[in-house]
Amino acid sequence: MYRIMYKINRIDSRYCVGCGTCVTLCPRKAIGFSVLGSDIVAIVDESRCTDCGLCVLICPGINNVYVDDRSVLDSLLREFRVKAVYFGWSRDENIRFWSASGGIVTSFLRYLVEKKVVSYVLVTKHRFLSAYPNITGRVEDIVRSSGSIYFKTFTLAKLGKLLELVRRGHRVAIVGLPCMLGVVRKVLPRKLRERVIFIGLVCYHINTFWYLKYVFSKFSPSLRAKPISVSPRKGGWPGKIVLRYRVNNSVKEVEVGHFSLWNAIPRFEFTAPKGCLYCYDHIAVGGDVVVADAWHPKFFGKDTLGVSLVIVKTDKGLELIRKAAEEGFIELIDAKSVDAYTAQYRNFFIRTIQTLVRRAIFYRRFGVIFKFPREAFIEILRLAIISLLERVPFIYAYAITRVFEKLIYIFSVPSIEGRLYIRYRDDPQLFFRTIKVLTLKT
Ligand SMILES: Cc1cc2nc3c(=O)[nH]c(=O)nc-3n(C[C@H](O)[C@H](O)[C@H](O)COP(=O)(O)OP(=O)(O)OC[C@H]3O[C@@H](n4cnc5c(N)ncnc54)[C@H](O)[C@@H]3O)c2cc1C
Ligand code: SF4
Ligand code: SF4
Ligand code: SF4
Repeated sequence: MYRIMYKINRIDSRYCVGCGTCVTLCPRKAIGFSVLGSDIVAIVDESRCTDCGLCVLICPGINNVYVDDRSVLDSLLREFRVKAVYFGWSRDENIRFWSASGGIVTSFLRYLVEKKVVSYVLVTKHRFLSAYPNITGRVEDIVRSSGSIYFKTFTLAKLGKLLELVRRGHRVAIVGLPCMLGVVRKVLPRKLRERVIFIGLVCYHINTFWYLKYVFSKFSPSLRAKPISVSPRKGGWPGKIVLRYRVNNSVKEVEVGHFSLWNAIPRFEFTAPKGCLYCYDHIAVGGDVVVADAWHPKFFGKDTLGVSLVIVKTDKGLELIRKAAEEGFIELIDAKSVDAYTAQYRNFFIRTIQTLVRRAIFYRRFGVIFKFPREAFIEILRLAIISLLERVPFIYAYAITRVFEKLIYIFSVPSIEGRLYIRYRDDPQLFFRTIKVLTLKT
């Protein structure tokens, strides 16, 4: 494992991927959120900081860039021997429809809470332009938090409170991105881990806030429209986000399809924070149960209610997810590892290869000889070729969906993107001043 952090003794906001941990764990309470350029990041108040270095040890953004921890990569490859793979969805049609993919996360949490397997869960709720991490034991809160938020959420700003509950003997479930689960596993004493159920979301990357600004500009119904809120992605599958604007005295809604949000700009990772560009773990190696969209030819282009891909990593995860199915909360269909590669082609293969190449280039600056993991690389390529063949029908269905989405916007939304974007570009802080993004309460 290479560790090249010798120059860093506190977090560097440029690498912030928005997990929220440092804010709650800094012993001097020296870290808060702030606007830097066109993004929101964790930032250190120099006058309070004692350079203890704790924030650097835990920060996933910095660790992604400056620590080459191959164990994540290895376990990702070894974890291809997962305990089980399923396609699945919520048995509650309402949850299934109003979730990100198949509503597995929401219904699984519901099972855990209703059957008293856990007393609390950590979920992230979206309201207006803000994300609110929420520790709750109420099913209504869990259901209201469904859907995927593709911008920084700082979910682990509640980690301190959650750890306190675990220490007091409570069992809890955490829903988070791979890096968030990694942090929790790092700070949680081994003997307490049994009390926590880790539910991971497969993650391509998080988006910085300038992209939200751009999306609002792009789909704005008029020059005078002011952004009010953005919803998480939900509503059928692949689903959409809803942008709300105030135009004069009325509220106007614009629905943006999944692929119009995840278009070429985020796809080529222009919107990702630096910390995400060097991330190995997109499949959540630290999850007991990992959930993703079922981007698979079996379902894509056919199902509109929602299907999730469920990757089960541990015995604990397997026992619980099966019980949730037996008790009628979720429906599970057996699948194979190759189905997981096919559905998550980018996250398993492309992103891993990109990260390897980026690290090899980056580490040269420090004179570190980056040993390319040849065997792992060949294994990745072998699996990638097998699943690419399985994926061909998906690519066809994707192309059709994309063309439809494009047509809808061409005919329904006047694109004034250019003019509005120039306005924001000239004054990058304008967006944040006008809409007060992220009034996060911890
Ligand atoms: C940033 C991001 C990137 C993703 N990238 C991919 C991808 O490339 N490919 C893919 O197949 N799937 C990806 N996913 C996962 C996918 O969008 C769904 O979240 C997943 O399939 C679960 O769907 P569901 O219907 O079971 O979840 P739901 O039942 O809708 O529940 C979602 C849960 O996730 C929590 N949540 C939502 N957003 C966040 C967040 N940003 N941080 C922490 N918790 C959150 C909510 O609190 C809720 O409890 C991504 C998700 C996120 C948030
Ligand atoms: S990624 Fe997390 S730990 Fe690192 S600076 Fe951002 S909020 Fe803090
Ligand atoms: S170095 Fe220590 S005191 Fe300073 S911001 Fe980080 S955690 Fe807080
Ligand atoms: S790409 Fe990695 S570091 Fe970035 S948000 Fe996803 S899991 Fe975290």
